[in-house]
Amino acid sequence: MSEEAKPKPATLAAQALGWTDPRTGAIIPPVEFATTMKRDERYEKTGGRQYIRDEGHAFAQPEALIAELEGGAQALLFSAGIGACTAPFHALDPGDHIVAPDVMYYAVAAWLREFGVHWGLGVDFVAAGDLDAIAAAMRPGKTKLVWIETPANPDWTVTDIAAVAEIAHAAGARLGVDSTAATPVHTRPLELGADIVAHAATKYLNGHSDVLAGALVCARKDAFWDRIHRHRHLTGGLPGAMESWLLLRGMRTLFLRVRQQSASALAIARRFEGHPKVARVLYPGLESHPGHAVACRQMADGFGGMLSILVRGGAAEARRVALACRVFIPATSFGGVESLIEHRHSIEPPGSRVPESLLRISVGIEDTADLIADLDQALATI
Ligand SMILES: *Cc1c(COP(=O)(O)O)cnc(C)c1O
Repeated sequence: MSEEAKPKPATLAAQALGWTDPRTGAIIPPVEFATTMKRDERYEKTGGRQYIRDEGHAFAQPEALIAELEGGAQALLFSAGIGACTAPFHALDPGDHIVAPDVMYYAVAAWLREFGVHWGLGVDFVAAGDLDAIAAAMRPGKTKLVWIETPANPDWTVTDIAAVAEIAHAAGARLGVDSTAATPVHTRPLELGADIVAHAATKYLNGHSDVLAGALVCARKDAFWDRIHRHRHLTGGLPGAMESWLLLRGMRTLFLRVRQQSASALAIARRFEGHPKVARVLYPGLESHPGHAVACRQMADGFGGMLSILVRGGAAEARRVALACRVFIPATSFGGVESLIEHRHSIEPPGSRVPESLLRISVGIEDTADLIADLDQALATI
């Protein structure tokens, strides 16, 4: 098929790469629960598979779709986003050095602090999105991995993926990008020079707040990727058949959901910027956001469904707004079809730098007008 004729990612996602069951004609795969496969009459593996741990059809289909959506050579599923994000660290050797951002998913940073350093990995946390700080932290020959998250939770700092890829590669390091918030709908980090992309598939890829899963995608299969793959095989952090099946089901609507969520997020950000009860709106789609110019370059078709607002007041006022919402649900996590609002400071560990007045908002697929009216009435209570 010529490059022009290749279906667009939204088409590939809607049909989950067009898989049908040759035996029954079913257009949706069955859930395969068997853990082991019978040998054929020559005692060969049937269909090349023998044991489910990482040979299940249930994983192979979402892995193939995620690899396609990210334009990568291969994807690997994990039982949680945290398993995907920490797998590349496990593939490093004692003495190797990592450069990571100071604004990132807290549990990934916690692994580096509580285990990575203990296992002999050198880690420097630098100001998120700051190219000079990343370049200054590089130790050529020692730094093996630069890790970034963009847009980064919870202030949605944007990091220039192409620029960091150049810095990392010049020093002989790989670049890993946690692209959970951007999704392949908006950003394809491998095309911008990244070597590995990570997703908490728990969030947008599944999209229905009912599956815990993670995914990694590589630009090319090399020795480092083989080691990540081998580590997964030997530690067993894979999702079950039902989770894998649900994830594939969820991904069919990825583009529809995320485009709607991003459009509503932009409308909400614009509506509440300058609102008398709101000190600041943090959203990469707003001209006022420090990462807006870079976001315009590396995000297509929208800026994502996540934003944060700083209410006028402190923790008490922020919590009051969250609890006064009737459409937004006060809950953690994000990326589902239902809108969530979270007082981030309440759940962060002591010493967190997240402002007490910050509310993190995950925009769902409800009617945009309902979402705006709900926030409006909730803000009126402070
Ligand atoms: C949620 C999240 C993770 C961890 O995913 P789990 O599935 O909860 O383990 C990692 N990175 C980011 C950016 C996340 O939002």
